[in-house]
Amino acid sequence: MKTSAGLQTSGTTDESTGKARIEGPIPEFDKYGDYTGYDYFRCTGCGIEAMRHRDLRDGGCKCDGGGP
Ligand SMILES: [Zn+2]
Repeated sequence: MKTSAGLQTSGTTDESTGKARIEGPIPEFDKYGDYTGYDYFRCTGCGIEAMRHRDLRDGGCKCDGGGP
């Protein structure tokens, strides 16, 4: 049973360093592959996503990906 084939979702990143950071804005696409008109941000540390960068820093993110 193979379950480890989904590690190539975000292209070129340096997640191997282990340093959490905020990625984005990342364009959001619906299930048809069309741009929804929204962008979102994602923390590489805890994987949480939000529509605004500050939402990650102000509550969503539990690691230090958002910086000071
Ligand atoms: Zn985080």
